[in-house]
Amino acid sequence: MVGITLAREPDATDTKEIAKPLAVILLGPPGSGKGTHAGPLSKYLTVPHISTGDLFRGNIREQTPLGLLAKTYIDKGNLVPDELVLDMFFDRVSKTDCKNGYILDGFPRTIPQAEALDLYLHTRNQTVALYFTLTDEEIIERITGRIACKVCGRPYHKKFAPPQNEMLCECGGSLYQRDDDRVEIVCKRLDIYRKQTQPLIEYYSNKINVLKEINSSNGKEQVLQDVLSVLSTTHLQYSKSY
Ligand code: AMP
Repeated sequence: MVGITLAREPDATDTKEIAKPLAVILLGPPGSGKGTHAGPLSKYLTVPHISTGDLFRGNIREQTPLGLLAKTYIDKGNLVPDELVLDMFFDRVSKTDCKNGYILDGFPRTIPQAEALDLYLHTRNQTVALYFTLTDEEIIERITGRIACKVCGRPYHKKFAPPQNEMLCECGGSLYQRDDDRVEIVCKRLDIYRKQTQPLIEYYSNKINVLKEINSSNGKEQVLQDVLSVLSTTHLQYSKSY
């Protein structure tokens, strides 16, 4: 694992501070690497990775009423209405595995969602928002090349992480492209991102020492290093087994 040095190593007297859970919010356009970095970060900080997109896809696979309704928005590249997202989200973060914090990927996506999250976190969590940036050309190249295994969910990329056997996963499962990763839908998602999600950057930049910008154009390893380095130099205290 990437070696980092914390600004100050926690000691026994820090118990109260460390006990406060950490909420890491991943912000940035679709394809900016939120999902890619959420996994390693979640392992590193030993807190769950919560992706509202994954929660919806799980509901769609299981054909729940929520999944069937959400699909009508997702397939068109639209955002799912706030009330549906909020119920599902708060149900997830109330689970016991979230007691030490979480990595939020794809939530919040609108100002009302951010306000609802603020009310919920209030004095409960320490918060940091990581803002992943990259150009529109990079975004389109990254998203339209994404494929994943239908069976085990393993992600690949046609150009950057191609499967050994074209359209087949190592587990033997067939690979597919998400309906909403097609180029025409990606352009719509980017448009919606700019209108509804980009205002969150200003929202979090108005909070003291919360928003941290990460250049996502750098390679995967470098970006992870940058994220860990940002976390280590903030005021945050977290209980990671280094
Ligand atoms: P993602 O996997 O995060 O790209 O999400 C896939 C799709 O799920 C999005 O394009 C939205 O349609 C929907 N979705 C996920 N999270 C949210 C959210 N916080 N608010 C509204 N819609 C969401």
